[in-house]
Amino acid sequence: MKFSWKNILLWSLPILVISFFIWQGFFAPITNENNNNVANSRMTYGRFLEYIDMGWVQKVDLYENGHTAIIEAIGPELGNRIQKIRVELPVSAPELITKLKNNQIDINAHPTKNNIALWNLVGNLFFPIVLIISLTLLFRRSSNNSGGPGQAMSFGKSKALFQIEAKTGIIFDDVAGIDEAKEEFEEIVTFLKKPEYFTAVGAKIPKGVLLIGQPGTGKTLLAKAIAGEANVPFFSISGSEFVEMFVGVGASRVRDLFKKAKENAPCIVFIDEIDAVGRQRGTGIGGGNDEREQTLNQLLTEMDGFEGNTGIIVIAATNRADILDSALLRPGRFDRQVSVEIPDFKGRLAILNVHAKNKKINPKVSLSIIARRTPGFSGADLANLLNEAAILTARKHKNEITLNEIDKAIDRIIAGMEGTALIDSKSKRLIAYHEVGHAIVGTLLKEHENVQKVTLIPRGQARGLTWFTPSEDQSLISMSQIKARIMGALGGRATEEIVFGDSEITTGASNDLQQVTSMARQMVTRFGMSEIGPLSLENEDSNPFLGRGMGNINEYSDEIAIKIDKQIQEIVEECHEKTIKIIRNNRVIIDKLVDILIEKETIDGQEFRNIISQYTTIPHKG
Ligand code: ADP
Ligand code: ZN
Repeated sequence: MKFSWKNILLWSLPILVISFFIWQGFFAPITNENNNNVANSRMTYGRFLEYIDMGWVQKVDLYENGHTAIIEAIGPELGNRIQKIRVELPVSAPELITKLKNNQIDINAHPTKNNIALWNLVGNLFFPIVLIISLTLLFRRSSNNSGGPGQAMSFGKSKALFQIEAKTGIIFDDVAGIDEAKEEFEEIVTFLKKPEYFTAVGAKIPKGVLLIGQPGTGKTLLAKAIAGEANVPFFSISGSEFVEMFVGVGASRVRDLFKKAKENAPCIVFIDEIDAVGRQRGTGIGGGNDEREQTLNQLLTEMDGFEGNTGIIVIAATNRADILDSALLRPGRFDRQVSVEIPDFKGRLAILNVHAKNKKINPKVSLSIIARRTPGFSGADLANLLNEAAILTARKHKNEITLNEIDKAIDRIIAGMEGTALIDSKSKRLIAYHEVGHAIVGTLLKEHENVQKVTLIPRGQARGLTWFTPSEDQSLISMSQIKARIMGALGGRATEEIVFGDSEITTGASNDLQQVTSMARQMVTRFGMSEIGPLSLENEDSNPFLGRGMGNINEYSDEIAIKIDKQIQEIVEECHEKTIKIIRNNRVIIDKLVDILIEKETIDGQEFRNIISQYTTIPHKG
């Protein structure tokens, strides 16, 4: 809804009336009595006294601290009807009360009339004023929320709605690092702008495009950029919203959406998380999800219903194309598929450049160093990173983002919030040994990534951390690299064992051991790196249609299961022994490093290597 005075007036009118009634109700006892008592006729004090003597007065109400009385009297002069008469009383008339009492006349004293009137006024205005203020705030708020470029409006009958942006304001230059996907879309923009080029030669334009990629890679951004470049409206809805709906609502929402889209063609219809509605039908255990299937069927019907050249282009996004219903991918529906990958180094640099544009960054900061440090980051992660750095900068009242804030922001995104270091104590020493253990094993193994820094400053769940420089190419990893990682992960626990003894080891290694086990298990069951041979026995994510847990229905015999467990154990044992050996052989260096770490709390990778190289040779990493 939009903020306007007309809106507020329209809404506040009935509320004003209602609140007036409410307050009338509250004040009724005082107000009504007061009103009834207003007497038109008057009488002098003397006459009043006579009336009392005659026994004609029935009731006396005193007002204004006893200066005024309204009496109820009956008598021949008053036509033998009870009448209310106003009497002004002299300043002090103590004998009056006695007289009234003697004649057994009801007396009532009332608070000052002026006060009542004032309270009534305040009471009647209080509620409406509060309501108008809160309504104003409410309208302001809701109009801000739906904001963004262009107007956003919502349609539909229940809570999940679709959105319309008349102008997305996003252009292709805002999208970086995913050039292939971008190229695919340039043609679509031409079609939306100049359809006659295509229709003249009888070309059919695709109706549906499926964007496949992990969250945060820029799928929504890309879809908005198409709308922005072609200057057409952008309709969007998320598939996950349909799933919670009552039966039939999802389908009618799809109908509404396409009806509106047709009225506004040419336009872009964007369906986020289409896998939520578009899963392969009839695969659920114990019956499918009726609502989902109806919604999907409606979507298919709608897509078949309009001609390719009406100017509606449906763009859907998912990170799970493998589970989509094959009907969705048939020609005439989402027959074009474009994948959007996690950006590589060049891509990350380009994305950082886009998001650095509107930020004040110290010219000494090299975006390419940041790009090097962030393999695996999506576009959204990178945008978030620069924003975090900007927030840190503002918090320190600095006017430029420096490498320092960026480093902090990267650490925070990877490992969570920073805490404060422990004061010197036994557990600080133990944590220091544990971390130095990881770091020295990592440094001395040729196949392991380099140490970037070791720190005792806690972050997220971790009480100390050893950071390694991630290598760029993570796609092909050799067996010796995996084993090196297992040894690096075991380095912490192994050092605890040697320095403090078997009975003093701590729970601090539980996360390390989880990783160790998972790496060893994958070597055996996925990568064929054990004596069992080159067999694929388990998938990364066994069966997407069955919930987790249910998917672990093994496809191998119990005999193989026993072998798998044995192989895992053997791998870990072998790595553990080698790790212990490295720790034993370097005990002197470790003690030295721990002392330095406890004093400085953080040692960066180069310094760490410099210290070690005074005692032993570090293998060259290739
Ligand atoms: P998805 O739809 O793939 O989950 P979004 O498009 O919603 O991802 O991305 C979220 C935000 O991350 C964008 O608004 C943008 O700020 C940033 N972003 C993601 N990918 C890119 C990219 N390739 N180039 C520039 N910014 C990006
Ligand atoms: Zn550890």
